[in-house]
Amino acid sequence: MTLEMLTPMINETHWQAAHDAIADASRIVVVTHVSPDGDAIGSMLGVANILRGMGKTVDCAVDGGVPPTFTFLPNADTIQPKLFKGEWDVFISTDSSDEARTGECGAYARANSRTVINLDHHATNTLFGDIHLVQSTVSSAAEVAFNWVEQMAVAFSPEVARPLLTGIVTDTIGFRTSNVTERTLAVAQTLIKSGASLTEITERALDNRSYQSVNLWKQALQSMELHEGGVLCVTITRDDFKQAGIYEDGDFGLAGFLVRVEEAMIAVVIKETEEDGQINVSMRAKPGFNVADTALELGGGGHLQASGATVEGTLADVKARTLALLVQAAKSGKRVIV
Ligand code: AMP
Ligand code: MN
Ligand code: MN
Repeated sequence: MTLEMLTPMINETHWQAAHDAIADASRIVVVTHVSPDGDAIGSMLGVANILRGMGKTVDCAVDGGVPPTFTFLPNADTIQPKLFKGEWDVFISTDSSDEARTGECGAYARANSRTVINLDHHATNTLFGDIHLVQSTVSSAAEVAFNWVEQMAVAFSPEVARPLLTGIVTDTIGFRTSNVTERTLAVAQTLIKSGASLTEITERALDNRSYQSVNLWKQALQSMELHEGGVLCVTITRDDFKQAGIYEDGDFGLAGFLVRVEEAMIAVVIKETEEDGQINVSMRAKPGFNVADTALELGGGGHLQASGATVEGTLADVKARTLALLVQAAKSGKRVIV
């Protein structure tokens, strides 16, 4: 079954119910997805900061806390790495397609909140929670958050504009993905007018890389293989991390870099995680190709052109399974920009 058959498009937006829930709430907790990217942190802080401006008491949390790349954002220091006490009127989940993605913080927040608002833009969103703000054709969770905040008729302060623009810029790789619309650019314009610097955000949240992370790419690229149908595959072992002198997890955007290769219709990075037997699969596709189906098959999720999963097994087994699915995905796709 293809993803289009499962979820052609989600536009389920209970704006009024969300406004009512917030109006009645005094304590709110916002949680985003594990291994947070710029959209996760940006949408979480944007929402948290707007609610704080409305006089609400807001906690925010993500398993492991805020990655160093995003500590420049306003109130990033309020992001908790773990939740172990507190009760809330409302729990807002941002940029998470399913409950498992919200990690241990999400599980705690859900068990100790009365109402759950699910704010997201993934085509694979499971519509968990009580109130849905899910728009799968929108560029980023940050843009969905903007759509919500705009209706609250409050001014966008720099504390709200900077995180939201960070979410948009990082998820669209600098306004370059196929889900960028006139509306995305208009939203960005409003956020820039409200005090967000596009130059600063692009430099700090999107382009900046450590020497060591490129060293990891150097190690990993030795495993690069081009498979049938234009599936470009790179694997990363724990030894590659050791050789590169890196002690944090992540591939630093390698799959996004590889899909730019002319011969690649689909790029995949298959990586051993710090946890034994847990393999991370990160996939990117050119427009016209679909990697979301493969992610769903592997127990993960994402978007048509950017998806991922964490799979149990050995690197070799997960690679074989993933490549078999992706070669099929490459054959069922068609290049739309030639
Ligand atoms: P990544 O390749 O890790 O940057 O992830 C690309 C996209 O896939 C993002 O939109 C993620 O939210 C989604 N994604 C990655 N890993 C998972 C997972 N284990 N479960 C669900 N979605 C995932
Ligand atoms: Mn994300
Ligand atoms: Mn996102």
